[in-house]
Amino acid sequence: MNFISTRGLTDPVSFSEAVALGLAPDGGLFVPETLPDLSKEIQSWKGCSYEALCFAFFRHFATDIDPSQLKVIIKKSYKNFDSPSRAPLTLLGESLWILELFHGPTLAFKDFALQLLGNLYEHQIERTGQPINVLGATSGDTGAAAIHGLLGKEGVHIFILYPDGRISSLQERQMACTEADNVFPLALDGSFDDTQRVLKDVFGDQDFRKSVNLSAVNSINLARVLAQCVYYIYAYWQLPALVRDETEVVVPTGNFGNILAGWMAQKMGLPFRSFKVATNQNDILHRLFTTGEYQVLDVQPSLAPSMDIQVASNFERFLFYAENSDPQKVRPIMETFKDTGRYDFAEFDSDTFSSSRTDDAEIRSIITKVYRKYGYIADPHTACGLTEWDHPHQQMVLATAHPAKFPETIEECIEISYTHPILELLKSRGIRKHKVASSAEAVKSFISTHIH
Ligand SMILES: *Cc1c(COP(=O)(O)O)cnc(C)c1O
Repeated sequence: MNFISTRGLTDPVSFSEAVALGLAPDGGLFVPETLPDLSKEIQSWKGCSYEALCFAFFRHFATDIDPSQLKVIIKKSYKNFDSPSRAPLTLLGESLWILELFHGPTLAFKDFALQLLGNLYEHQIERTGQPINVLGATSGDTGAAAIHGLLGKEGVHIFILYPDGRISSLQERQMACTEADNVFPLALDGSFDDTQRVLKDVFGDQDFRKSVNLSAVNSINLARVLAQCVYYIYAYWQLPALVRDETEVVVPTGNFGNILAGWMAQKMGLPFRSFKVATNQNDILHRLFTTGEYQVLDVQPSLAPSMDIQVASNFERFLFYAENSDPQKVRPIMETFKDTGRYDFAEFDSDTFSSSRTDDAEIRSIITKVYRKYGYIADPHTACGLTEWDHPHQQMVLATAHPAKFPETIEECIEISYTHPILELLKSRGIRKHKVASSAEAVKSFISTHIH
């Protein structure tokens, strides 16, 4: 299987190349050359363990990795999850299913993809003998999940930039209390946008990039989307036979990565009924699916910070399929959007996704009411998916983070101080972070000094 760019100006590449590159050289995102029809095979995956299903799925894509090694990579990736089923399903009332995706090492769904990505990187280093240095910027969960995917791995240094004092103290501790020698959280002055700008400038220096073999960790890596397809298929088989095909899947959404994976699994033959995009008050996707207008507004910080996003980077993959896999159509749309911050889709197929928007007051009220009715504690992101908690019709809501990651909001809503042993352990450790000036030069010099 080869992978092509949504913009069509990059030669097809292998799985390993697509993973190593992240973004395609023409600025597009990698997608499989064709989406395989797995509808028959999916029927034979009933009763598989999470790892066995993941292997059966990835064999269709990671065709340039030796199958016995692929098996080992997958096994390693999910061994640090604290639930034997990896993605357990819980029933509230009669028809509201919660798929808990927060049983990995950083207690958010991003671990499913970033644990695997870390082991894919490691495999590549073993194969090529070339060390790599990973650089990313984070406003929260991604940085922590990336760090935990690469913790202690031979031949990798990981540098994560974040705006000092602007992320929650638990999130900072998840990055700065790992005690691993290959992890460097860099605290920069300024806002998250300033941090992003520094990141872009560092990557813009091609000579530097090559000289230190710098790789990006971000939400657009192909391996992340594929890794996320797996739990949708796994969840399908955990639902009772009678309701499986009737189920609407509700996904708290920011960058459109998680829900895109579910939708792609459906296109490959997973028979879920439909998908619902659940946004917080940053509702660009809700506006898109209700009006056809795709327009960027300013980000408004919310109680569900990992969804505080306006430009949903994975949207381009969906657009590619919506435009019949024609890169000639994708390019002008992305260009217009880049230049003007908006694009109007005249004939948007709004049957594909339904959507909802939840503001902070509603998040609080949902957390309180769901707890009163079902005794279940939902984190603020998951709460955005629970808008129909009162009258659900065969829904499966993806729970994207553990509520203990947001203790202030939980305490405010239900007066319980909720915690998790992983987070308690972090509080007992010293913080190791590096204060660096908010400039590309300072970051480059830090990286050069610390990799030798
Ligand atoms: C990243 C994240 C999201 C949003 O996921 P996307 O793939 O960006 O749509 C939702 N909830 C939590 C807890 C997250 O960390």
